[in-house]
Amino acid sequence: MSELLKGFCLHGREKISPWNGRDVTRNTSIVDLEIPQLKEGEILAKTLYTGICGSDNSAALGKANFDWVERPRIIGHEFSAEILELGPGDHGDLKVGDIFTPLAMLGCRDVNCHACRIGKWNLCPRKQIIGFHRNGGFGQQVVLESDRVVTLMEGLSPEQGALVEPLSIIVNALNNKCDIKPGQDIVVTGCGIIGLMAAELARAAGGRVLVTGISRDRDVRLKKAAERGFMTAEVSPENTLTEQLQQGITDSRGVPFGVEGKVDLLIECSGVAAVLTEAIDVVRPEGDICVIATYPTEVPVNATQLTRTSLNMRGSMGSCREDYMIAQKLMVTGIFPSEHYVNRYKFENVKQAFEEAIKAKNIKAVVEMN
Ligand SMILES: [Zn+2]
Ligand SMILES: [Zn+2]
Repeated sequence: MSELLKGFCLHGREKISPWNGRDVTRNTSIVDLEIPQLKEGEILAKTLYTGICGSDNSAALGKANFDWVERPRIIGHEFSAEILELGPGDHGDLKVGDIFTPLAMLGCRDVNCHACRIGKWNLCPRKQIIGFHRNGGFGQQVVLESDRVVTLMEGLSPEQGALVEPLSIIVNALNNKCDIKPGQDIVVTGCGIIGLMAAELARAAGGRVLVTGISRDRDVRLKKAAERGFMTAEVSPENTLTEQLQQGITDSRGVPFGVEGKVDLLIECSGVAAVLTEAIDVVRPEGDICVIATYPTEVPVNATQLTRTSLNMRGSMGSCREDYMIAQKLMVTGIFPSEHYVNRYKFENVKQAFEEAIKAKNIKAVVEMN
């Protein structure tokens, strides 16, 4: 049976521009999947739904911040799966048939590791990301450590299970790095799924939210943001966010957004260096900037301006088990309405799913794996 299993594999390192028209998924291919022998503490699972992350796209485009990913690699760290087999060792309460999503980041669990001692595997310097350090959720089956299994909460569908990881990233950022207060004006820069999830949760926390994008986001992602009732701004080097805020933006009721062109909080989800550089100019003194994205280049930051405005600029890396539990609750209760954001693909169309994700033609691509 196993010879029929397939996986979506990253193998190339070519630097690819997403806009030059040629096959943008040429660093990847569909391969036959080999399932290794289960080692101590490992399980075998059948993948159900796997989401495409912006980082998967970056790796597929050969971006420098993903040079460290070994090739060939079956990618995919946002997925739900069903346990088929428990390998040797102790697996706690887990049993065959359980449906789960994995913690994307597994810490080294060394007693001398500060991050692991406090249960924050996302901050472990030796963390292992499934789908980057070992084969992941774009295989029709996957072998993984049972320590990273998070059994799905009752009421959560396997499709929603694939969204737990990205939503947990926002939960971590908003709970620990943003300090949102009701009535605040918040800009989310970038309208990929991380930006749109941030917008939903920031609004749920009482903020009024503006989402930014660029011209290629106009027809799908910014449109979705507007449909969901967010203010939107299409930005470009000729028409920056700073200029638009200074000229004055009002919400649908005509209430001005921000004060004198400044907002309370900016959540950076675009991964574009110039956007983070500009962030310092659009946040009020003692306001907050929360950085969720990573960047393929160095980012120039006006540190003197940072001091003079007493801004808080904080990074937020990944998420841990606690964030996964909250993310699941947010979907089960409908506080994050996942049904508005998923574009579902069959596994045979996985290349198309990646191509459309890379070209910003979908919102959140989720692939039905079997
Ligand atoms: Zn991701
Ligand atoms: Zn560690």
